[in-house]
Amino acid sequence: MPQLQDKVAFVTGAASGIGKEIATLYAQEGAKIVIADLNQAAAEATARELSPDGSRAIGVAVDVTDEGQVNAAVERTVAVFGGVDILVSNAGIQIVHPVEEFAFADWKKLLAIHLDGAFLTTKACLKHMYAQGRGGSIIYMGSVHSKEASVLKAPYVTAKHGLIGLAKTVAKEGGTKGVRANVICPGFVRTPLVEKQIPEQAKTLGISEEDVVKKVMLKETVDGEFTTTEDVARVALLFAAFPSNALTGQSLIVSHGWNMQ
Ligand code: NAD
Repeated sequence: MPQLQDKVAFVTGAASGIGKEIATLYAQEGAKIVIADLNQAAAEATARELSPDGSRAIGVAVDVTDEGQVNAAVERTVAVFGGVDILVSNAGIQIVHPVEEFAFADWKKLLAIHLDGAFLTTKACLKHMYAQGRGGSIIYMGSVHSKEASVLKAPYVTAKHGLIGLAKTVAKEGGTKGVRANVICPGFVRTPLVEKQIPEQAKTLGISEEDVVKKVMLKETVDGEFTTTEDVARVALLFAAFPSNALTGQSLIVSHGWNMQ
């Protein structure tokens, strides 16, 4: 029995990496999917991969920092699929610099994508989840950096910690209406976001790319392994399919033991 039969899932940043894997697993589990991504061509291509005739997945171009675009994308979701049951707020970027060199514009850009994006998509989806009267599941893509810091990542660590506060608040407000909110906290996953960081960190830290992987990214794991997109998608399925409010306001780390808080 599919675990998400005919649930409607709005997944941001789903044209690549972790979001794409979550959308794919949700589709296999019977959900109808909205691939909401800045990259329109990739969003539409991903939707076609999941549903060639467009009846069970659509791609929607959306910048999660733009309130009008977010609201329009959620309204389109409801118009096409009749509601929204699951939000995965996953779109994200990374920018690495030491604090004293961080451009204010880059700080604001990163916080806007991770935090404004989470707030705007939550606000737009909650309205429908409450009105539908069948509850819902909101999932934020945090990180091990929701729990601890690394050098060079001030706005990312700040934003990922902030998502836990948002999830706890939404969990409290949504409780009586059956809307759950949780955070997934992955370790390093080899997606385009991480591939880009390896040479950047090597340059900033003055070490080889191999050492960035071994001595920085995977140093604290129990087995020197990357977390995979599949690992993260399984946790996203657990949070989406869980049948009661027993699992809400939580943050679950999936990191090969890098962090055990
Ligand atoms: P990715 O670069 O593969 O995918 C990110 C997607 O987000 C892209 O398709 C991009 O177009 C989209 N996006 C970027 N800005 C957007 C915006 N303003 N509006 C809408 N879409 C936008 O990255 P990923 O590694 O799959 O990361 C996904 C999430 O997982 C991010 O929140 C990231 O912080 C988090 N995360 C990643 C890792 C990792 O190691 N890769 C670890 C922990 C957490």
